[in-house]
Amino acid sequence: MQYETVIGLEVHTELATQSKIFCACTTKFGGAANTHVCPVCSGMPGSLPVLNRAVVEYAIRTGLATHCAITRSTKFDRKNYFYPDLPKAYQISQLYQPICTDGWISITGAEGEAKRINIREIHMEEDAGKLVHDPWEDASLADFNRCGVPLLEIVSQPELRSASEAIDYIERLKAILEYTGVSDCKMQEGSLRADVNLSVRPVGSPVLGTRTEMKNINSLRAIARAIAAETARQIELIEDGGRVVQETRRWDDDAGESHAMRSKEDAQDYKYFPEPDLPPIEISEAQIEKIRAALPELPDDKKRRYIEAFGLPEYDTGILTGSIHLVRLFERTAQFCGDPKEAANWILGEVLRLLQQTQTLPEDMQFDPDALGKLILLVKQNTINRGTAKKVFAEVFQHNVEPESYVKANNLALVTDDGAIRETLRQMLAANEKSAAEYRAGKEQALQYLIGQGMRALRGQAPAQEVTRILKEMLA
Ligand SMILES: [Zn+2]
Repeated sequence: MQYETVIGLEVHTELATQSKIFCACTTKFGGAANTHVCPVCSGMPGSLPVLNRAVVEYAIRTGLATHCAITRSTKFDRKNYFYPDLPKAYQISQLYQPICTDGWISITGAEGEAKRINIREIHMEEDAGKLVHDPWEDASLADFNRCGVPLLEIVSQPELRSASEAIDYIERLKAILEYTGVSDCKMQEGSLRADVNLSVRPVGSPVLGTRTEMKNINSLRAIARAIAAETARQIELIEDGGRVVQETRRWDDDAGESHAMRSKEDAQDYKYFPEPDLPPIEISEAQIEKIRAALPELPDDKKRRYIEAFGLPEYDTGILTGSIHLVRLFERTAQFCGDPKEAANWILGEVLRLLQQTQTLPEDMQFDPDALGKLILLVKQNTINRGTAKKVFAEVFQHNVEPESYVKANNLALVTDDGAIRETLRQMLAANEKSAAEYRAGKEQALQYLIGQGMRALRGQAPAQEVTRILKEMLA
């Protein structure tokens, strides 16, 4: 039988606000354990939460950028459960009136077509702390620094059909969150992580199969692997006459397999009720319009504009606009050198190659953003050739050298002085009298040899056309 995979994603993103959602503690990543805490976020009795308004604004921004409706009258709910990294034994979240509903993101489907993935809702909530397992002491320690860091949970409809669609969805969502400044989306720091809801069903069946949920996966590679493994596990189970049990599973990326954690609980198990310590939030039309007016150009619009304005191919443009960091570099470089097409070629070529080769993320690029533009100008002005420019750029990329002074200090500029080229060629010809004589006697190949020798004598630093022209003149 042929099966199809049905995937829904719950993406959690930590917001880039300065302070936490219900207190003034910093949201900074890391820090010595339990130094970013206060009575509110460490759940001391008698402390009361005060909502950080920036969180509401960031949520609205995200909702508008993903075509959601904004709930004008929204509120928080209390989700009760005990976990050692949750000192209050409840999480303040939203169940009944999430701040955003019914949006969508466009992804690329299996046939290369544009496919809309609907977003059921986006809600605001607080993050929990972190347990640090210490194998030497045989103990687990609780670090509450992350408690109360604001989160958005973005819940898709189960409309994704493969790992590649799921990855595309997350990448598009990540770009939107980065463009709008809502989150830094650093997956390696847990700023963006996904719960994967997955079921399988016979192709063509209108009925959804029983789903499992894999929690908190924080790399794209792990998400893709988890989807492939869970799909195979469920199909095998069904083919063997068994049935899938609704449960939460933990994905172990090192082992490449998942393990049952607990049977899946329903909302009623958490005994949600309206959060009594926080008043409801009323959002005015004017507030929404103000935020809408301040939205930046979004990835899809930017992509369309780049394709039209610069004649860039669609696939490449998608890569470029998929990262705000590449976009920033591109726009700065294009402006500096006045040649957007050339700027794009460099970024899609050398920049991506070096990022890949050095395993660097676009957000970690360290060089002066004007350096690439300067380098492109040096090529255009015939100061250096393309091959040299690539070598210089590798130095710019890794050591942030200044292109012009690096070219000067390393004597990499092209020899464009006619007299200097002639002098070098004269010496070269003196050492290659035989070939020169052969060429003069009509042997054409001898010229190629002499050009090669000439370029070598000039260390490749003269324009080849110039060398050919002068050499022919000298041999005439
Ligand atoms: Zn605090």
